[in-house]
Amino acid sequence: MSAALRTLLGAVLLAAGGGANAQGGGVCGFDLATLTYAGTPRAQAACLLRPVAKWGKVASRPARLPAALAALVGEPMVGMAALERHLAARGIDEADVGGALAGTLSRANDGDAEAPAARYFVIHDTSWPALGNAARFPGNGSAALNKLDKYAGSDAVAHVFVNRKGETLTGHDFGVPWRATKFENDLLGPPGKGLYLHIELVQPRRRERSRKGPNDALAPSPGFTAAQYDKLALLYAAASARAGTWLVPAFHAVVDEGIPGAHDDPQNFELKKFDKALGVLNKALRKPPP
Ligand SMILES: [Zn+2]
Repeated sequence: MSAALRTLLGAVLLAAGGGANAQGGGVCGFDLATLTYAGTPRAQAACLLRPVAKWGKVASRPARLPAALAALVGEPMVGMAALERHLAARGIDEADVGGALAGTLSRANDGDAEAPAARYFVIHDTSWPALGNAARFPGNGSAALNKLDKYAGSDAVAHVFVNRKGETLTGHDFGVPWRATKFENDLLGPPGKGLYLHIELVQPRRRERSRKGPNDALAPSPGFTAAQYDKLALLYAAASARAGTWLVPAFHAVVDEGIPGAHDDPQNFELKKFDKALGVLNKALRKPPP
């Protein structure tokens, strides 16, 4: 990282009220030397999962981690064999959940073998389709909300995409260093490339008509389907199995907090629903094989 970038990053951390007080408002005390946020993995998750309200407003208090997540974050992920059986029993191809479980995980510094493996599991919403002034959102089963093809390609914006039905498209294998936030792209530069994995949950948006000009501030409520939470839990387990440790989940808007033009996703994410899906999955993975 150049001195100029380092100074810029310092300015953003200060402006956002982070740095010295990682638990307070602002960003979560990212340390450039160690490429981690401040505190234990649980404390990092509590900071990085602060609720994101409309217009990208991030809550100042740390999230209260629900039970399953609190028990797993940062702990060894020892369920690789169980996860392989789980996927096989359900006919789920490993290629559809971020790539082969036996594959290596992306590493920071653009895949540098000496750099740390991915630590952060970033949750996004696609904010697409953008329905402008439409009066309402289409049903979750509609074709418009479940097309995944448009997200494919060598320039796919994330590692994995999950539609409203819980179907997935792997844009990049979890082994590929790929950036999808302003923090990684504009501030961390190459050292941070590969430290984060990115999941996009399909969520349509509409324009908030009470505001002048174009916007896509209106998200459906509830924000995501049960099938999306189930698949997100599975992707979290798959990525964590490859890491050997349950990763630290994060919201995109929180990662980019304090950076001008930061995104507002994910909207209406319910940590309790994700946690319920994670708890059910983890229980299934811990069951002894037949
Ligand atoms: Zn995003």
